Amino acid sequence: MNIRKLEKKAGQLRLDVLDMVFNSKAGHIGGSFSGMDILVALYYYLMDVGKILRSDPDRDRFVLSKGHCAEALYAVLADQGFFTKDELRTFTHFGTRLAEHPTRDIPGIEIATGALGHGLSVGIGMALFLRADRVPAHVYVLMGDGEQAEGSVWEAAMAAAKFGLANLTAIIDRNRLQISGCTEDVMPVGNLEEKYRAFGWQALVCDGHDFSQLIPALATRVPDRPVVVIAETIKGRGSKVMENIAEWHHQIPTATEYQTIKADLEKMIQEVSP
Ligand SMILES: [Mg+2]
Repeated sequence: MNIRKLEKKAGQLRLDVLDMVFNSKAGHIGGSFSGMDILVALYYYLMDVGKILRSDPDRDRFVLSKGHCAEALYAVLADQGFFTKDELRTFTHFGTRLAEHPTRDIPGIEIATGALGHGLSVGIGMALFLRADRVPAHVYVLMGDGEQAEGSVWEAAMAAAKFGLANLTAIIDRNRLQISGCTEDVMPVGNLEEKYRAFGWQALVCDGHDFSQLIPALATRVPDRPVVVIAETIKGRGSKVMENIAEWHHQIPTATEYQTIKADLEKMIQEVSP
């Protein structure tokens, strides 16, 4: 897929997420929209999704450490054929597989997540066993920036560097907001690039909504060293109704807001140059 197609795909998947959240009156739309371009870069460009669909042992692994944004991943997985798009309508309904946080009942989900601060450790375990088995697969872990306040993230960061995990890429959705406000007010995480570098990682910063920056950053490999991509993003990216407003971490659009957000996304898709 070329960049224009990736941009269109990300817009269409945001529309799917909007419908899921609006219909179910549940979910985390702000962080789902900020991280969507990262998911699209992984699932439509970097990873061999065919291998994931077949559960090949040498498939790349993806861990959504910020599991509360499950609806973004569900939209991607449905579009890639892991289950039907119709099932998206059951999001958070009684008896559904598509709960507000992902579980292994769902095709394509490697690990249940949502308790923040655990995904990186899980990814390290995956990277260790893949390397031990000489499997040439890569592990990607997507975390939130609010999640960087969890001490367990930094224990994992030390371990990944100690083990020299060149087959591990951590991604931070750096939208500078979390559930209760600005990350730098709630618990300042400071300069993440310098911090991860001090922990022994290869650290890169890029525009998390620009595929021409995201793809090379996510494809970066360094011998004996894990890579962290700090993706500068906008919470609620795609509609002025939501962008950069902390309340949209967990807010549900009204009927009027739904129509405005939908129109903004459709305009964004249309404006992608042909
Ligand atoms: Mg955040």
